[in-house]
Amino acid sequence: MHDLVINNADVVLFNPHAVKKVNIGVRNGVISQVSPEVLGGRQTIDATGKVVSPGFIDFHSHVDGKVFSAECVARQGATTTIGGERSFNGKLLKDIFKDGFLINHGFYVSHSFTLRRAVGIKDPYLAAETGSIKEMEVLAEQFLINGAFGIHFGLEFVPGTSEAEIVSLAEVAKRHNRKLIVHLRKDGEEALNHFAEIEKIASETGVGVHISHLMYMVGFKGVMEEVLRRIDEAREKGQDITADTGLYAAFPSCIGSSILDSKWQEAYGKRISYDNVLISSGIFSGQFCDEEIFHYLRSEFPNTLVTVFACDESEIVRALKKEYVYVSTNAADGPHYENIGHPETAGTFPRLLGTYVRDRKAISLCDAIYKISLGPAMRFGLKGKGIISEGYDADIVIFDKNNIKDTADYVGFGNPNAKPTGIATVIVNGEIILKDNIIVSGARPGRVIYSDPDT
Ligand SMILES: [Zn+2]
Repeated sequence: MHDLVINNADVVLFNPHAVKKVNIGVRNGVISQVSPEVLGGRQTIDATGKVVSPGFIDFHSHVDGKVFSAECVARQGATTTIGGERSFNGKLLKDIFKDGFLINHGFYVSHSFTLRRAVGIKDPYLAAETGSIKEMEVLAEQFLINGAFGIHFGLEFVPGTSEAEIVSLAEVAKRHNRKLIVHLRKDGEEALNHFAEIEKIASETGVGVHISHLMYMVGFKGVMEEVLRRIDEAREKGQDITADTGLYAAFPSCIGSSILDSKWQEAYGKRISYDNVLISSGIFSGQFCDEEIFHYLRSEFPNTLVTVFACDESEIVRALKKEYVYVSTNAADGPHYENIGHPETAGTFPRLLGTYVRDRKAISLCDAIYKISLGPAMRFGLKGKGIISEGYDADIVIFDKNNIKDTADYVGFGNPNAKPTGIATVIVNGEIILKDNIIVSGARPGRVIYSDPDT
């Protein structure tokens, strides 16, 4: 007897990519049967007319244990989040281990914010000395042994990072078969100069490198094309490079961030200015900046969230067409609660499946789902996830491909946390956490997950 069955499902399968009508049985949190026969169980979901997909893996996310943010990504169909890019919270993981969480939760170890702080480097403009690098290597190794999904570098936020720091930690990652997850040193045209450094490190150490949110860094006419061409070339030479992108043409930031240090407009070809910066939290929320407000907020309220309209929307499709570019939400970067922030937190995955698959037909349904399930599962070593198959974790999303739609919008234009529509059911480890777009109160089936890179 199954605990739960999903009958008449149009299931997304990979290898080859296809949608096939089957019935799914779940027992003890695991997919126990995939069958052409209709199944019986204690609880039955009739999925007629709906798509049944492996749960979405939100592999670049800043949920980091925040319940409000977890609910936002769960409503999008995320059953797993990986965080830790900016900080590591051991207590949080202990609490999840003990009490569970809405969705599964893994972590990266952050070079820029965890390792550097742990060895006492406070100044982001300073390079680490040899002794500190050695200490970081030892610490990084401990994190990887304990299941971190890779080492994250926020190079743009820590400009002092030396190549020696990256190479030393790349060697540790390589030894443990984990990836470097890299936010490049600069946005815009300058990113191209820094891409060479990443290529060199990938080629010299053999480490796998994953480049974060292409759209926000290089989503400009001419620049995206060139970056993708360079990744193609590097991959042809045997280097192990992948990337991801968000689905918005305006990026989130705090106004005090080094991204907006003096001469910030030049990175984007001087096409943008203060009135491209939308204030997305605080007293001026919903208003675009002028020079005076920009400098006032930067000095008095540097944590104010802003949204910078700097990128070209047409570049999103160009990135999506590459099979090595996955999709991440980057959800809830910064403090996060109702009516502030960026629509990526509530809208990314439904936007992929609604706007880019159904409406614009930019990529196929199976290719899109691969980018948010099996692709990242294999890339980062998420054991037992990413496929609907017997023995795999019962992390499942059921949605209506004709009606799935994001409704979140930028602050001042709409509600950045508005709930998507068209997601019927989200299941984590065999337990329903969302039904008809509503979170099941008290559901905590999510577990701490650890990297198993030999998956
Ligand atoms: Zn991020």
